[in-house]
Amino acid sequence: MVRRPTGAQVAASSTWVDPDGVRRPAGDVHAWVGGTNQTVCGLALSRSSLGRFPHVAWVDALPEVGRHADAVQHVCERCRAALRPRRDAVDRRAFRRP
Ligand SMILES: [Zn+2]
Repeated sequence: MVRRPTGAQVAASSTWVDPDGVRRPAGDVHAWVGGTNQTVCGLALSRSSLGRFPHVAWVDALPEVGRHADAVQHVCERCRAALRPRRDAVDRRAFRRP
C-alpha cells in the first residue's frame, strides 16, 4: 500500500496567536504527520525546535492558498514537494540522501 501523507499537519519554527486565540504557524514551516516525531522531510521535531500544530492542515500554511499562512516566512521545499498531490508515489528514498 502506498502511504500518501495527504493528511499532513504543520510543524513550524515559531508561533503566533490569531485574533481568535488559536496558535498558528510562523517562520519556517514543515509538513508533519500526526503521531510521528519528525517532519515529512525527516527533521526531528525536538532537535530542530519545531512546534507542532495538529490543528492546522498543511495546505492552510501555504502562503499561496492557506488561510493561516500570514506569518509564514519559508515553506520547506522538500515537504512541499512530498505533499504535492500530483503523483501517487512519493519517493521517500530521496529524503534519506545527505
Ligand atoms: Zn521539511
